[in-house]
Amino acid sequence: MYDSENIFAKIIRGEIPCDKVYEDDKVLAFNDISPAAAKHVLVIPKGDYISFDDFAANADGAEVSNFFAKVKQIANDIGLSGSGYRLITNHGSDASQTVPHFHVHILGGQALGGLIPGDANVR
Ligand code: 5GP
Repeated sequence: MYDSENIFAKIIRGEIPCDKVYEDDKVLAFNDISPAAAKHVLVIPKGDYISFDDFAANADGAEVSNFFAKVKQIANDIGLSGSGYRLITNHGSDASQTVPHFHVHILGGQALGGLIPGDANVR
């Protein structure tokens, strides 16, 4: 069940400010409040999707394809296409998803190291 009081829903409605990077009628992108890299932008659809799992299952093909085209465009617009970037999307508790509105992290602007931080090694 989508929680319409989650922080990103409030940002979409303009109830909480954000440092906006891009917006159109379907997609919003803004700088992460607690950046994990020199550049750290969050890209979210404006529709009510809890996570990637929900988005992939329930958004129509045009919305999915438009969303990922915008992720690519934003990565390019913030100057990361040449140097490289990482996309992360967390779904659920094992992935430590903290905000229950689907979002893709774009991380870059520095060498990012290995895929998963050392404290998340296989147990
Ligand atoms: P998750 O852990 O769910 O994949 O990522 C949630 C992200 O949202 C975190 O990187 C966190 O720093 C960011 N975040 C949480 N609250 C806010 C907020 O109010 N504004 C912005 N810009 N980012 C937020």
